[in-house]
Amino acid sequence: MNVLVINCGSSSLKYQLINSETEAVLAKGLCERIGIEGSRLVYQPAGGEKEITESPMPTHKEAIQMVLDALVNEKSGVIASLSEVGAVGHRVVHGGEKFASSAVITEEMLAAVEECNDLAPLHNPANLIGIRACQELMPNVPMVGVFDTAFHQTMPEKAYMYGLPYEYYKKYKIRRYGFHGTSHSFVSKELASFLGLDINNSKIIVCHLGNGASVSAVVNGKSVDTSMGLTPLEGLVMGTRSGDIDPAILEFLAHKENMDIDELMSMLNKKSGVYGLSDYISSDFRDLEDAAEKGDENAIRARAVFNYRVAKYIGGYVAAMNGVDAIAFTAGLGENDTLVRRDIMAYLGYLGIELDEENNKLRGKDVLISTPDSKVKVAVIPTNEELAICRETVALI
Ligand code: ADP
Repeated sequence: MNVLVINCGSSSLKYQLINSETEAVLAKGLCERIGIEGSRLVYQPAGGEKEITESPMPTHKEAIQMVLDALVNEKSGVIASLSEVGAVGHRVVHGGEKFASSAVITEEMLAAVEECNDLAPLHNPANLIGIRACQELMPNVPMVGVFDTAFHQTMPEKAYMYGLPYEYYKKYKIRRYGFHGTSHSFVSKELASFLGLDINNSKIIVCHLGNGASVSAVVNGKSVDTSMGLTPLEGLVMGTRSGDIDPAILEFLAHKENMDIDELMSMLNKKSGVYGLSDYISSDFRDLEDAAEKGDENAIRARAVFNYRVAKYIGGYVAAMNGVDAIAFTAGLGENDTLVRRDIMAYLGYLGIELDEENNKLRGKDVLISTPDSKVKVAVIPTNEELAICRETVALI
C-alpha cells in the first residue's frame, strides 16, 4: 500500500509518499509560504529531478491539491491515479493526555485533538487544518494521526509533574508531556535491534539533537522520562530555544528591559539557545564550528554549554533508570556532527564509554561509535519520522 505522510506547519507542509511493503520513498517534498506571497511546491520523485513550482497557495487545501497533482502528473508523477494512495498518516504535535498512541482519524478523534489546541497553539491548529484539507480532497481514504507526545504518555507521575500547585494540573493539565516521541520510539527500537538487545529488557537513552533537541530515557521500550515539558521549550539548550532556566529570570528581565510576556516568550523561543549564547552568530552548528575553529569565544561558549547540558541529562537519566545499556544519537546534529558526539562522550567515561574515533567519522547509517570493549554501547541511529508514521498508519488501518 502507498501511504502519504503529511507534516503540516502553520505556513509549510512536508510530505512523503511511501510504499509500505518495500518502505521505499516514491516521492517527497514540501510546500513553503502557504498563505503568504511567494508560495512554492518542492517535489522530488525518487530517482528524478527536483522540481520547484511557484504558485499561489492561499490555504493548506491548495497546497495539498498541488502535492496530489504532482504525484499523479503524467511526466514526473509516481502513481497513475489517487486510488493508489491507500492511506494518509498525519503528524499531530500535541495529544495531551488523551492519546497514548496513534489513532484513526474520525470526527470524535478530531474533536479530542481540538481540545488539546491550548497546549500547542502554534502547532495543533495547523495540523488540524492539514487533516481537514486532506479529508476534503480524499474523502474515502483512511487517515491516521500520529502524535509527538504519545510515546511519552508512559512517563510515571513523578517524572511528569512540575513542582507547582496541583490545582493547575487539575484545572489545565499542566504537566510535562515531552515531544519528538515518534523519533524517540523509532530510534530506541532501531537501537535495540541494531545491538541485538531485547527491547523488553533494556535501558536506553536517546539523544535527539537537531535544531529542536530532546533526550529520553526508555526502559523496556517505554519512555519513562524526557527533557521537553508542557511545551518544547524545556530541557536542552537548542538552536534558538533556551531550554531549562530559572523562571525568575523572566520577572527580572521584564523589569530591566521593559519586556512584556510575548516579547519574553519570543526571546526564549527564537533568540536564545546556541544562537543567543553565541551572541547571535548562528543557530546552525556548522557555522558555530567554523567560528569555533577560528577561536571565536562566543561560538566556543555556545557549543560548550550545549554539550554540557546534554551530558547532564544523560547522567540524570542513568540515575533515573539505575543504569543504562545503550545510548543513541540521532537527528541533524546527532547524525552528522562528529564533534558534538565526541565532546558529549568525553563526559561519559564513568560509564565505561570510550569513543571509536574511526567509526565516529562514518555517516548515513546505523553505526556503533563506542569501542568494542565499552561497557555501555553508543550508536548513531538515523531517525526516520516519516517511515515511523507510515508504519503506525498501516498498523492501525
Ligand atoms: P530540526 O528538524 O529540529 O529543524 P534537524 O534535525 O534538521 O533540526 O537538525 C538541524 C541541526 O543539525 C543544525 O544545527 C545543523 O547545523 C545540524 N547539522 C545538519 N547537518 C549537519 C552536518 N553535516 N554537520 C554538522 N551539523 C549538521
